[in-house]
Amino acid sequence: MGSVFVRRHSVVGLLLSMSLAVSACGSEANSASEADTAAGDRPSVVTAFYPLQWMTEQVAGEAASVTSLTPKGSEPHDLTLDAKSLERLRDADVVIYLGEEFQPEVQKAIEQLPASVRRVDALKVPGIDLLDVANTEADDHDHEHAHEHEDSEEHGTHDPHVWLDPVRMQAVAKAIGEAMSAVDSARATTFSSNVAGLESRLASLNGSTAAKLANCQRRTLVTGHAAFRYFANRYGLTQLSITGISPDEDPDPKSLQSIAAAAKSAGATTVYFEDALPSKLAETVAREIGAETDLLSALEFQPEAGDYLTVMDQNTDRLVKGLSCAP
Ligand SMILES: [Zn+2]
Repeated sequence: MGSVFVRRHSVVGLLLSMSLAVSACGSEANSASEADTAAGDRPSVVTAFYPLQWMTEQVAGEAASVTSLTPKGSEPHDLTLDAKSLERLRDADVVIYLGEEFQPEVQKAIEQLPASVRRVDALKVPGIDLLDVANTEADDHDHEHAHEHEDSEEHGTHDPHVWLDPVRMQAVAKAIGEAMSAVDSARATTFSSNVAGLESRLASLNGSTAAKLANCQRRTLVTGHAAFRYFANRYGLTQLSITGISPDEDPDPKSLQSIAAAAKSAGATTVYFEDALPSKLAETVAREIGAETDLLSALEFQPEAGDYLTVMDQNTDRLVKGLSCAP
């Protein structure tokens, strides 16, 4: 079954095997596949990519081992898995991921895991309230844009980028804690007290973000790929994205023109780009409308410095500047 998963990006594959080699040193292969819930053993939790990894680490503290399938610095959309990653998944007690075709191969592999592996799809937890993938292009003719992915049969119908909303992330925190407590009831008190701490940090992030963005001269957020819908929706902003839900989808010149026109009529003075993307498209749109460019992290992979909370805060500060928000 490993043959289904092709390594498309050799660099990613290399990084992946390097990190696996490192992590393999600590835990020598005892192939007691299910006996790892024995007393004393910490549960092993595999997460799909950075924001879920960070959340799970907060819940775990020292009481569980947490790893991520997406190698540091890699773009998580359309991640491919090698045989070792599949093995890591099969050996996990809990797997935390995002469905809705955000990472189609990861999702497929996780759906095929034996029932003994407890799974949490963060997009299916109670209270998550998903938003639809909407047409981000400025025009609304009904012809098809470059929406089709060459190598994924079907996109999910919901936007997967929920992690940029600290309120929805509180629901995810709860679900992660419940899954971990279910596989290790002896540590349930630790997990639930860690969940409470995480929820309160997320709530305070939400409060400070809302306050900073309450009073802005402009409310249109012009960005690279369409990662900021939940964030924009939470704080009363409108997202105008240059590309679609996946960063690989390049707009044609006509779409680029209409995005520039929409950005201009919204009075945008800053076009944001992400660390995962070349800023060429952002620069093109910015030049077209006489705007500046600035960085806005979609937090799709582990930041070089800081963590989820500090990067979310930096994003807000950059928006305060670009949208001219007053205290
Ligand atoms: Zn994305």
